[in-house]
Order: sequence, then C-alpha cells, then structure tokens
Amino acid sequence: MSRLSRRTFVLGGLAAAAVIPIEARAGAPGIQAVIPYPFKLGVASGEPAADSVVLWTRLAPSPLNADGLGGMPAGDVVVDWQVSADERFGSLVASGSVTARSADAHSVHVVAGGLSPDAEYFYRFRAQGHISPVGRTRTTPATGTFGRDFKMAFASCSHYEEGYFTAYRRMAEDEPDLILHLGDYIYEYGAVSGRTRTHAGTAEIVSLADYRRRYAQYHADPDLQAAHAIAPWLVVNDDHEVENNHAGNTRENNTPALTAAQWTARRTAAYKAYYENMPLRPAQAPSGTSIPLYRRVHWGRLATFHMLDTRQYRHDQACGDGWQACSDADLASRSLPGNAQETWLLDGLAQHYGTWDIIGQQVFFARRFNSSGQASMDSWDGYRASRARIQTGWVARGTRNPVVLTGDVHRAWANDLKADYANPNSATIGAELVTTSISSGGNGSDDQTIPDVSNNPHLRFYSQRRGYVLTTVTQTQMRADFRRLGSVSEHGAAASTVKSFAIADGLPGLQAI
Ligand code: FE
Ligand code: CA
Repeated sequence: MSRLSRRTFVLGGLAAAAVIPIEARAGAPGIQAVIPYPFKLGVASGEPAADSVVLWTRLAPSPLNADGLGGMPAGDVVVDWQVSADERFGSLVASGSVTARSADAHSVHVVAGGLSPDAEYFYRFRAQGHISPVGRTRTTPATGTFGRDFKMAFASCSHYEEGYFTAYRRMAEDEPDLILHLGDYIYEYGAVSGRTRTHAGTAEIVSLADYRRRYAQYHADPDLQAAHAIAPWLVVNDDHEVENNHAGNTRENNTPALTAAQWTARRTAAYKAYYENMPLRPAQAPSGTSIPLYRRVHWGRLATFHMLDTRQYRHDQACGDGWQACSDADLASRSLPGNAQETWLLDGLAQHYGTWDIIGQQVFFARRFNSSGQASMDSWDGYRASRARIQTGWVARGTRNPVVLTGDVHRAWANDLKADYANPNSATIGAELVTTSISSGGNGSDDQTIPDVSNNPHLRFYSQRRGYVLTTVTQTQMRADFRRLGSVSEHGAAASTVKSFAIADGLPGLQAI
C-alpha cells in the first residue's frame, strides 16, 4: 500500500460507504437493519503471529448508555467478518461469522487464521446490514526468518479528561507495523469539572456496567480509533484499568469504601471489561480475579516481545506507595512480576531467538534515587532484588540485546541500565525507553532538565511533553524517536521528534543521534 493511500485510509477517507461487495448484500431480502449503526467504537486488531491475527470490534449504537451495553437490545447478534489483501476487498483471503454475545457486551474476538507471513491485510465487519470501518493489520515474519525492518510505536497513559488523544492520531500517521500499549488505557476516576473533556459518570467506576461504559467512551474517540485501525496492538494493563496503585489483591486504600466481596467483584468486572475491549487472544480471557496476560510474541527472528504483567502478582509496595527511603525495598523475598513470571522471563531471555529481546512492561525500571535516597515504591526501585535477579539473569544467560519499554510516569525518559547503579563505571547491560503519556498530566512543559541526574548518571533524557515513542527495528540497530506534542488541551497539535537514540546490535546502552 502506498504511503498516500495509507494516509487517506488512516484519516477516514475509506468510509464504509465506499466499500462495494459486502454492502451490496446489506439491503438484500431478509437482512433488516433493526439496530442503529453499531460500529461507533471502531475496529482493532492485535496479537499478530506469522499466520493469524485477532480482529476485534464491539457493537454499541449508543456508547455512553449507563448500563454499559451501548444501546444494544438484549440477545446475541451474528457478526460477519472479512479479511482481504487489498483495501477494497476485491478478493477475500479469510472470512466467517461470529456471535457477538450480550453477555460479553457484544464484543467479538476473531482469530483470523490461514494468513501469509510478513504480510499486510485489511479487515471489516458487518452486523444487521451495517458495515464497519476498515482496519489495516499485518502478520509477523515466518518462524526462522527476519522479515523486513519494521516500525513499532509504543504508548501509555491516555486520560480522557486531561487532554485530546491527538498523539494517537499522530502515531497512526507514522504508519507503524505494530503498536504496544503499556497500560493506563483508561482511568477509573469519576468526572472532574473544569478539565479538557469529561468522563461519563460522576463517581469512580466500580461495576461491570461502569467499566464497560468507560471503555466505550474511550473507544468512541476518533483519534484512538485511527491508531487501532492502522496496525495490530499488543496490550498489557497497569493499575488504572482496575484502581490506582493496587498491588494484586491489595488496594491502594479503601476509597471508595468496598467490602472484600465488593473488591473481588470490582476486580472481576475490571478484567472482564478489559478483555472485552482489547484485541487479545482467547488465551488471555480472564477467570474471575485472574487474567493471564504475560506472554511472548515472536516477530520472526528479528524481535521477541516479552509482555509483562507488573501489577497482578507483585508484593505490596514497601513502606507505602510514595517516594521513600526504604530498606524493605531490598528484601530478596520481594518480587514485582512474582516468582513464576520472573522465572518465565529469564527462561525466555535464555532462548537467544530474536535479535532484540524487547520487554514491554509498565513501571520505571532503572534506578532513580533522589538526593535524599528516596525512590518510588510503586516502581522497580521498590523491588530492587527482583530487578537485580532479572538483570544479572540476562547477563548470565548472554541475552544479546535486552531493551526495556516502560510507561506509567507520564514523562519520556531514556536510560542506560547498569550492572551496579551505585557505580557509574560499572557495565552498561541494557537500555530502557520510557514513553510519556498520550494525555495524562495535560500539556506539560518544554523543560528537559533530567531530575536527579547527579545521583543517577545513567538517566540520559527527559521530556515533560505528551506523545509516544516510535522505534525502527532492523538487524543492526533499534532506533527510538521520542515524539512530542506541544498541546493536548487543544485538539490537533503537530508531532515532532524531540530526541532520538540508537541502540546498536551487540552494544548495550543508548547512543544519541
Ligand atoms: Fe498513568
Ligand atoms: Ca500507572
């Protein structure tokens, strides 16, 4: 697909009405439109493999209805889907029907199989005579092959009230092959007056209906829809998809007041709604308060994505959730991913399969002590023995190019990872790229003074503006362009690259370019 036609597509030039073959059937006898246009939440794809990808949509003619059911009538609805190698669907490579169940808020997760490796596809849905927007997706290179160089963008922290999602649209315009979302896809808070936009619902979300409506409000955003429609996503949640700073089953505090049973019901609802609204494989479907999210995705031999869950299995934050000088944070018994996931990660880092081992996770990984010796207890600094086991583990296993990707902090950072953070002359053993938020925190400022850098000389870059990170991955280099928007309080700001780094194959750490 040419750059021009892709851009037309991203910007909505390919409306459903332009699509001929499937629409011709919409008015056929026996197919009656009994619901208003239901594709107001857009379409998405995710979890690419060499021969398959997940296709997602959710039917919601009235996305903000308080019951969370999006204006859908009771009962299940058949949804047809199509995949084509061309955006006009001249011929189909895969198609079928799936039931959008009322019990799942009329969301569907189609595993479209039988696809060719390292290939671009287009997909769409039909329900009761209505045709969805068209999405673009792609498969990974075949097992054992490197495939083409690829572009991967990553993002986190999209607070609807604190700004427009322009950064999602700019990301789509960069035409990545893959998008990672590292958590805080929604925020659980009730509406706060005086902000750029307003959450539906005045109270903090707690029930399944609440979470479903919140996802529907976010999915109805056209900029977010553009980012979903341009490329497959790999997602992992952080805290705000459930509740701020929770640690597994331990709440931040008892606000709002909930009994243990109510907290269990809330977590169950949050995970169910997360799965309903993300392009995940059925293997990631939750069961009660458990959702199996950590997983590996191979991009041929070029990259392996280790997607971590740093929220569900962690020990409670040491010494409270804030910035503390806390000796408990050094306890060997404490883990951020949990022991099972730590072992799973190190086993994966020992495979030496992809040129790049990319660890997609949520919270700040490198050490960051302030001048009082305090650090954020919600980050890996609150679980220092766990971090040390992982770092020494990948060094011992000869992991070639470990790169940690991070969200959560609403600022962009670029960090060298050190064998011993207390010794600046110790070996650099990897790199961390931290994306700023899509909108959380509002406009930010242009101040790029790196906080605490005198105590932490491995911290190389800092920006307070909103945006995302665009990476280009080849067999010899991983390039990171930190993308910055001047404003999110006004819609439509331009994106520009504020800083770029390269990571060279076989040479740990960041090189400024
Ligand atoms: Fe956040
Ligand atoms: Ca967070």
